[in-house]
This record gives sequence, C-alpha cells and structure tokens, in this order.
Amino acid sequence: MTARILIVDDTPANVRLLKARLEADSHEVMTASDGFEAMARARADQPDIILLDVMMPEIDGYEVCRQLKADPDTRHIPIILVTALDGRDDRLSGLEAGADDFMTKPVDDVMLAARLNALVRLKQMADDLRVRETSSRRAGLIDNDQYQRQISATGNVLILDDNERQADRLMLALGQDHRAAFVTDPAQALKIASGRVDLVVLNLAAKAFDAMRWVAQLRNHEATRHRPVLALVNPDERNLLLKALEIGVTDIVPRPVDTQELLARARTQIRRKRYGDFLRTTLDRSLEMAITDPLTQLNNRRFFDTQIRLHLPRHIKGGPPLSLLLLDIDHFKKVNDAYGHDAGDEVLREFARRLGLNVRAIDIPCRLGGEEFVVLMPETGAEDALNIAERVRAQVAAEPFMVSGGRALDITVSVGVSTSGGLGDSPEALLKRADEGVYEAKSAGRNRVILRSAA
Ligand code: GH3
Ligand code: MG
Ligand code: MG
Repeated sequence: MTARILIVDDTPANVRLLKARLEADSHEVMTASDGFEAMARARADQPDIILLDVMMPEIDGYEVCRQLKADPDTRHIPIILVTALDGRDDRLSGLEAGADDFMTKPVDDVMLAARLNALVRLKQMADDLRVRETSSRRAGLIDNDQYQRQISATGNVLILDDNERQADRLMLALGQDHRAAFVTDPAQALKIASGRVDLVVLNLAAKAFDAMRWVAQLRNHEATRHRPVLALVNPDERNLLLKALEIGVTDIVPRPVDTQELLARARTQIRRKRYGDFLRTTLDRSLEMAITDPLTQLNNRRFFDTQIRLHLPRHIKGGPPLSLLLLDIDHFKKVNDAYGHDAGDEVLREFARRLGLNVRAIDIPCRLGGEEFVVLMPETGAEDALNIAERVRAQVAAEPFMVSGGRALDITVSVGVSTSGGLGDSPEALLKRADEGVYEAKSAGRNRVILRSAA
C-alpha cells in the first residue's frame, strides 16, 4: 500500500536518507525543513502521513503537532514523531501533543514499514467518511465544539489478559483516566467488545488463548471491526510484533508496561476511535436527512427515484412484477383555506401515518411533495396492489382526522395503481400510468382506486 508522505526535518541529510528509503518502497514523498513550512504543506497538500522531527529550531515538533491536531483541516492526518533520543519523556510529550506514533532515530526499516502500513490503512478507512464531515461542517450540521466534546470524554476500556495479576495492575492504571474492566475469557471478551467499548487492551503473550486469532475474529465482525486494540508485547519478540500490526492490532505497548506511556497511548487510541464514531454518526445522519421528508418522516422523492431505478430493471430482466400506488388527497386545498396551513400539515402527518400502517413491510411509502404520495411495491402484481390501495383508501375515509382545536376533518384520497409492463417499461411510464389512474379517479368523483394496466 503506497502513501503520500510528508517528511519534516531541519537536517537535509536526514531528509534525503528517509526520502530515498520511502521512495524505494514506492511512496510519494514531499518534504519540509521547518515547522512553519510543514504546517503550510500539510494544509495545502493533505499528505496521508507526516513524519515529524521533534528537535527543530524556532518551532519544535511538539508544537507543530499540537497545531496540526487542533486544525479541522489537518487533524485527521496521522503524525509519527521522530525523536533523536530514546527518552521516555520525549515520547510521552509527543503523545500528549496528539502524535499518533513515534519512532526513534535511527529509524528501523521494518518497523517503519509496518507502522506506515497500519496508519495508512486506518486513514483510508476514515477518508471517505471525512469527505462527508467536511460538507456537513460547511452545511452547519456539526461544529468544532461538538466535536471536541465528543472526543475528549472518558473511555470504556476492556482488558483481555490470562494473567489476572497483570490485568489487575492494568486496570488500576487505566482506571485513573477511564472506566476499565478485565476478563480472562476470550469468548466473553468478544461479546463485551461488541458493546460500548472504546479500546481493548490485549496481552499478546497470553498462554491460555491465541491472541492473534482473537484479533482476527474481532476484525471479522461488523460490530467490532473498528475497535482499537492496544497490545502488550515483549520488545524482543519482533516477528510477533510485526505480525500483530499486520493483522490489525492498532498500537503496541512494550513490557514491562510504563503506566504513563500506557495512558498516553490509550488516550490517543480512544480519541481516534471517537473521531471515527463521530464521522460515522455524522455520515448516518446526513444520509438519512437526504432521503427523509421532514414533515412526515416518510422517504422523499429522491429516495423513491433511486429505489424504482433499482427495482424496475430486476423485473424487466425477468424478475417478479412491481406495482405503484399514487395517492393524492382530495380537495386538500380546502383544508388549508378553511383551517390554516398548520392544520393542513397535521392532516399530511396523519395521512402518512395511516399510509405507513396499511402497507406491508416490503412496500416503500414516500411523499412525492405537497399532498401527493407514492408507494413502491416490489414483487407485487396488480391484484395485490389493488387490494392494498383499497385498504388504504378505506382507512383514510373511515375515521375523521383530528387536528388542533379539537376539529375532526373528513378526508378522502384518490389512488392510481399501475403495474410493471415488462420489456420497454420505464420509471417515468410506470408513474405516468399511475397518474392517469389518479386523474380518472378524480373525474369519477374522488375517494376511489383506479388501476391502469400497461398498454
Ligand atoms: P384535488 O382533489 O383535485 O387533488 O384538489 P386539491 O385541493 O387536493 O389539489 P391542489 O393540487 O389544487 O391543491 C394542493 C394544495 O396542497 C395546494 C397547496 O397549497 C397545498 N400544499 C402543498 N404542500 C403543502 C404542505 O406541505 N403543507 C400544507 N399545509 N399544504 C400544502
Ligand atoms: Mg395535487
Ligand atoms: Mg389533491
């Protein structure tokens, strides 16, 4: 998997070395020689990953990292801090500043490749979601404060470890910042992980179960696919470590565990998970809004258009027939004129409710606009469609509609029914036939159902 990588280092020799190495692996490389240039390039070029030197004059790597992570335009870009020292404090400051990972110089080839891989994979997952976020943010659907609140909260951490004493210590440590619980049984852990868990801390060296297999299972289930996993490893078990990153462990803490490092890494993982959740809910919400009629909560015309274009070709290719009901409320203008627009809206909502109650689960009731509704009925022939149309018509006419002020209004509806006519039929033609049915029903005195079969 290749990526666009921004290397930031004030020492030209370091830049050249890393650049050559990454280009040999087919990555696309851009460079910056100080913090300001780095921030400008990150904003303008939107790299997939930033390799950021810590020690630079004027503005150091921590500060660059903090600023990039505070900016909505760059906070999604993973940052690997590159430190000259193996100092624990440097690594901690880096994670505190919001870095996603760190490496020490000289940079180890294999580790770098593995880490890049893991981060690029994560980023690609988030990228298509983020496109939505950007447009939603522009549309004013979400704001930065809301985002900050959502990601800065305390997390739920699940510890899976066959060593109870170690698990106990981990729980104490993580409990300083989060709600933590531990289990020793992998099956139980899988079940719990499908709930409200923000992070799994896993002992990769567990003897009582196969930790690698457990991660694979976690990744194979829709409900747990996105759970971050922080694995505890022995630093000398290099192959295990690389394999772990490959199968989807999100980050690693070497043993013996340093509490501060554990907390810092847990915080980073939870923040990233929250970011993913945030993007997903934003995505769901904007998708739903795009296909829902706000007044009635039925689906809208746009949704109807996509659905009929999905179902009609199936029939034309030899599948079962499909039918349409087109429903137009009778003399609706009079409701508005006599009782006001709000009363009209109440009638529309109640009409939508009755419509929804009287069609089947496979049917798709939509509001086309105004007082016009349509029901798309997959796998339905003329006879069934007529019966259902008649049931809806009767349920509308049977009971008066109650509106504010205690008024009871008698409402009726005219319904046109059409059924797919095989080869050469089109969504437009199907809808047109239903419309002719409505027209005929109106001229014949309203409150009735008329079927228009294909010519
Ligand atoms: P017909 O029996 O021939 O269908 O008569 P009608 O009065 O129902 O039909 P017409 O198309 O003349 O009038 C529809 C009215 O619906 C006109 C419009 O003001 C009203 N309308 C359209 N959308 C809404 C809405 O969202 N809320 C309300 N309250 N009224 C709406
Ligand atoms: Mg009308
Ligand atoms: Mg009408």
